[in-house]
This record gives sequence, structure tokens and C-alpha cells, in this order.
Amino acid sequence: MIIVIKPDSRQEDIDRIVKLVEDSELRVHVSDGRERTIIGVVGDKSRLNIEGMSRMPGVEKILPVTESYKLANRRFNPDGSRFKVGDVQFGPGEFVMMAGPCAVESEEQVEATAAAVSAAGATILRGGAYKPRTSPYSFQGLEHEGLKILRRVADRHGMLVLSEIMSEEDLDDVCEYVDILQVGARNAQNFRLLSAIGRCDKAVMIKRGMSQTIDEFLGSAEYVLNGGNQRVILCERGMRTFEDATRFTLDISAVPVLHEKTHLPVIIDPSHAAGKASLSPSLSLAAVAAGADGLVIEVHPDPPTALSDAAQQLTPKAYKNLASRINALRTTLGPDYPVLEEE
Ligand code: PEP
Ligand code: MN
Repeated sequence: MIIVIKPDSRQEDIDRIVKLVEDSELRVHVSDGRERTIIGVVGDKSRLNIEGMSRMPGVEKILPVTESYKLANRRFNPDGSRFKVGDVQFGPGEFVMMAGPCAVESEEQVEATAAAVSAAGATILRGGAYKPRTSPYSFQGLEHEGLKILRRVADRHGMLVLSEIMSEEDLDDVCEYVDILQVGARNAQNFRLLSAIGRCDKAVMIKRGMSQTIDEFLGSAEYVLNGGNQRVILCERGMRTFEDATRFTLDISAVPVLHEKTHLPVIIDPSHAAGKASLSPSLSLAAVAAGADGLVIEVHPDPPTALSDAAQQLTPKAYKNLASRINALRTTLGPDYPVLEEE
């Protein structure tokens, strides 16, 4: 449930409400919004005298939150989450460009990519070191060595590192080298992994499972938030449908729908959805128009030679062209886009 605080309430009244809820062994999440303070409460409400609480000084109203995701619920933080990873700001009004190869193959390959994408405005270098491949006979990634390459290259270019974590047992290794953990589509409902990430102090980007509904996706985010880790980013990367003209079907409507349902930032990955480099620019621009908070795009210095996902990786030149169109579109849409309309 949420406790909506009256505007201009005294801090001591708010503190008294928070204490009462905490003393009843429920968890409290306070959001100091532009217009209102909201106290989100998670736990067994039968421990509280809600009728009595609604008459406490400072309380405007108490509303139930019926959805199964609570901490991820937009009603817990109606202005939208804002947080930093290193110097990169996530949240309303920001747009974060993440780019890099599907897999780390060599230092030269990552260096060439990072130089190109950072010059075009990307601040986060992506690259798989532990790769979730459909076949055990495909290239599985450079693992630990790949993480070291990513870190060295990103540091040379002042970028942050985003890389996939596939298993709880690799968590210490991956956390040592990355700034943002990526939970891949195939692990989106690996609840033990999500809970373990919830206990660590690393931002995480969760990719939507290829057959996950939006509410199930928010359940995945809830596992991380429930552990105390607030820096959660959501990524729509296409879902499985009957359509086979693209690798997956990009659910562009997931952007505004997620923005209505959650306060977490929403990133689009056009590369894995399209499966084809020529489709990435249009899907990326559609994502900007839909109000996405950023993009994660696969870029390789020589896509035909890539050891994984060769068909969908952009050349550095194509990425540069796309980045300038993204900037132009964002300028046209204006700094306060998207504006959420009241229902
Ligand atoms: C990736 O980002 O390289 C990847 C494997 O993505 P997904 O989990 O979305 O398939
Ligand atoms: Mn890939």
C-alpha cells in the first residue's frame, strides 16, 4: 500500500508514520516527489491499524497497491527513478547510449569499437565475456579474460562497462570488472541469480525474457529491488511471436506501458530484436519516439567476421550516422519528452 502525505507536512509527522510502520515489521520506502511525499509499504498489512493511521497528522490518504510488484510500482515513485552509475545519469529527461560488440573477441576488436562508439556519444561499453549460446559448440566467450579486456578498454575511453552475468557463481568475478551487470533474456527468471544481485552494490540491466509478460518482467525487477539494490534498468529486446521476418518482435509498446507501470528506466535493444543490422536504425528511432531512456546497440568493427550475432551488428560508420539522427530526433522532441499524461 502507499501512504500519501499531505503537501507541506512536518518532517516529524512523516518520521512518526515511518516509525510506526517499521515498528510493525513492515518495510518502508519513502519517495520525496516534486509534489508529494509518498511512503510505500511492503509486508503484512494486517499488522497495521490502517483506520487509525489514516487519521495521523500528515496523512492525506492510504491506498492499496494491488499489483504483485510493489517496489517496482510507479505508485511508489511517481516522478520516476533517478540514479547515477559512475558519471552516467539514468532517469527522466536523460538518454543513455550503450554500444559495443556482441562478444569480446580480442583487445583490438574492443578498442576499435570503443573508440568509434564513444566518439559518437556512447558512454557505456557493452560486450559479452560470458556468452549464453544456444549451442554448446558455439563460441562461449573469453570469460574472465574478456572482462579484463573490457575494463582496460573502457578505462582508456572514460566509459562504463556493461556485461552479462550468467550464473551466481561468477558474481564476484563479474562484479570486479563491470559497472552494470546484464541479466540476459534467458536468465530473466533465474530468481536465485536476481536475488543474489539484489544483495550486491552493482547496477543491473535486466533484459525481458523472450516470452515474459510485462508484469512477469516487473516481477524479475522486484526480486532485485527486494534485496535492497535500487539501481535497476529494464531492457526490452524483442519477444517470440509467430513472425519470423525478424529474429524477435520488438515490443515497442513496452516502453510507454512500462513507463506507466514502473518508475524504472527503460532501454531498448534493437539489435537482438531485429537480428539484422539494416533494421536497427529504424527500430532505434522508434524507441526514441516511444520515449525510451536509452539504447543498447551491437557494433563491431568488421561485422561479417564476428564470432557471434554477425548479421545484426552495426559498423562503426552506421552507428555514427544513427547517433546523429538520434540526437536530431531528441532535439525535435524536446527535453521534457515523454510527458506522462494524467489518466
Ligand atoms: C546479448 O546482449 O548479447 C544477449 C545475449 O542478449 P539477450 O539476452 O537479449 O539475447
Ligand atoms: Mn548478441
